[in-house]
Amino acid sequence: MERLRTPAAMRAWADARRAEGARIGLVPTMGYLHDGHVSLVRVARGAGSEAVAATIFVNPTQFGPGEDFEKYPRDEARDLAMLDAAGVDAVYLPGVRDMYPEGHQTHVEVRTVSQGMCGAARPGHFRGVATVVAKLFLAAKPHVAVFGEKDCQQLAVIRAMTRDLDFGIEIVGAPIVREEDGLAMSSRNAYLSGDDRIAARCLSRGLFRAKELFGKGERDAGALVAAAGAAIEGEPRAKTEYAEGRDPVTLAPLSGRVDAVTILVAAKVGPTRLIDNITLGK
Ligand code: AMP
Repeated sequence: MERLRTPAAMRAWADARRAEGARIGLVPTMGYLHDGHVSLVRVARGAGSEAVAATIFVNPTQFGPGEDFEKYPRDEARDLAMLDAAGVDAVYLPGVRDMYPEGHQTHVEVRTVSQGMCGAARPGHFRGVATVVAKLFLAAKPHVAVFGEKDCQQLAVIRAMTRDLDFGIEIVGAPIVREEDGLAMSSRNAYLSGDDRIAARCLSRGLFRAKELFGKGERDAGALVAAAGAAIEGEPRAKTEYAEGRDPVTLAPLSGRVDAVTILVAAKVGPTRLIDNITLGK
């Protein structure tokens, strides 16, 4: 597995793979890897990638003031061992100064799908995400890039950016990987202490309850979202940030009778902010 630390090194690797005729798959991450990340590598291979590059970069521009940029968990040695074991061909680990040199003044803003939900709770977050992913795309020159459905609004932002800026990259969404008790895997789960860890189940519990109701024929978006929200409201250690029903493709707000809906939730469990979602009827 090659380790690349600058945009120039990443580009050189990509140019060499393209010269060999290889299809490049890209898996962007912020590190502190778990099985959810590893699943993205498998999905990249499944999508026909002959050379897979993963990136590890805790991107400061997608963190707001007072958020957890400084304390975001990091463990490069462990991450490298996991990526190597997963069969990744190259890992790109740029430094902050490599990505944002003195005088950096350009960003990418995806308007509509960045609004509401995490975009409302974290102003500037998706601008930081879109900008860094655009830079990763330009350096790694992938044919296909894989993102988790766990970050559902992020996936929609990246799809819109890729289309609008003619990147010509296939964007593949990968299913949410969960712990045995249903909690969506996340690097931030490392923040959860004993009681908070148990309380954190309320997000997936609510989504599974909505799924159960949908299975029994409930089609009212409001009722489904309320069922998901009630599980969080009923957990004293959790504070709901949002619970919304959105169109699974466009993420436009939905109400009334639905054939398909994505329910997205965000909550703080103790000090830890968690998100989760489920798509019903597709
Ligand atoms: P992160 O390191 O949290 O920025 O995540 C990097 C990528 O892994 C993003 O595309 C995430 O959506 C994806 N990801 C994170 N957690 C999961 C999970 N539990 N299941 C599937 N994909 C995930």
